[in-house]
Amino acid sequence: MNSHLVVIGAPGSGKGTQASKLVSERLYNHISTGDLLRAEIKKQTDLGLKVSKIIESGQLVSDDIVMELLLQNCDLKNKAYIFDGFPRNVEQASMLSKQLLKNSPYVAVYFKIDQDLLISRIVNRRSCPNCGEIYNLISKLPSAPDRCDKCGHLGLTHRKDDHKDIVENRLEIFTKNIQPMLDYYQAIGKLSIIDASESEEKTFTSLLKII
Ligand code: AMP
Repeated sequence: MNSHLVVIGAPGSGKGTQASKLVSERLYNHISTGDLLRAEIKKQTDLGLKVSKIIESGQLVSDDIVMELLLQNCDLKNKAYIFDGFPRNVEQASMLSKQLLKNSPYVAVYFKIDQDLLISRIVNRRSCPNCGEIYNLISKLPSAPDRCDKCGHLGLTHRKDDHKDIVENRLEIFTKNIQPMLDYYQAIGKLSIIDASESEEKTFTSLLKII
């Protein structure tokens, strides 16, 4: 079984896109805390109702809630995971290693990218509500307008928290939390860094060299 992979990067740095490439080409399971939370909102569970406003405003949900959701949805004994969107701060990084990964082998990869590129990437991001495939109105249009190439679903969505004012909020939170997280993984010898401002293919090649 592959080592687990913890992907860290700003919103729009391409973590989700690269994770789905790895899932289709390698033996990985992709677990995204953003996706898990959005699924709770869609199902209108108590948890979903509790977190929907927080997510729409671009703030972070509490560490304990997200950790619990992660614990409920992982089967670490049998599967190798890509953790996407968790950790978001050093407290979560520590929770992830102490409560979930424990002695399992893993590597943390930081998707380093210039902040100016991010806003344009995120506000132009669209995704398929059916299969989760990600598109971009500038760099990765679907072959037919508004139709998902992967599953054929008609009607791609623009996430509420991908609008410019909320994106700025999310990036500010990211900037505040990133360095302590990188220091944490550096100190335990788990950190690798890739240049995520490159094309999707080049970034994927860099990622393959690490895992
Ligand atoms: P994402 O899809 O990873 O961009 O996450 C979307 C939103 O879900 C974030 O802006 C947060 O509100 C929430 N969220 C996702 N993952 C976490 C996490 N690890 N900790 C706290 N909030 C999270």
